[in-house]
Amino acid sequence: MSIFSRFLPKRKPVEIKNNMPKEKATIKKTFGIYCHSHHKTSGDKLCPQCQALLATVMTKMNRCPYGITKPICDRCDRTMQCFGSKQAQEFLHIMGTSQKRMFFSHPIMTVKHKLASMGVDYAKYQQAKKVDDKVKAKEEAAKKRAKDRKAKK
Ligand SMILES: [Zn+2]
Repeated sequence: MSIFSRFLPKRKPVEIKNNMPKEKATIKKTFGIYCHSHHKTSGDKLCPQCQALLATVMTKMNRCPYGITKPICDRCDRTMQCFGSKQAQEFLHIMGTSQKRMFFSHPIMTVKHKLASMGVDYAKYQQAKKVDDKVKAKEEAAKKRAKDRKAKK
């Protein structure tokens, strides 16, 4: 368990924020840094391969089955299913190798992204708990119905 799960439940209920625009901005910046240093591009321009991969990532993100409660893509357990294994590997490679460079050019953004990745564990815990609660509620309801039936007899 991360420290997040220990501290957060004591606060008021966590509101679900849409972090997708921020995540997209972080990914775009990271891709830029990677492409500029590896493929000799500059400014807002990316090489055709990086541009294509970035476009795929953005599209897949919009179709994320988790919706706005999604964990960040480079920490998600569905990255392979979403992007396909080849593109997922390229994506994770770019996100991984550019982390250091990213930190020096955009420290705050990098720290926020890191925090988001820690929050993933907490979000997963919450999602699992919700399912648990639903199952329990169903079981309770079934028990109650059984009782009612007995009472009628
Ligand atoms: Zn490139």
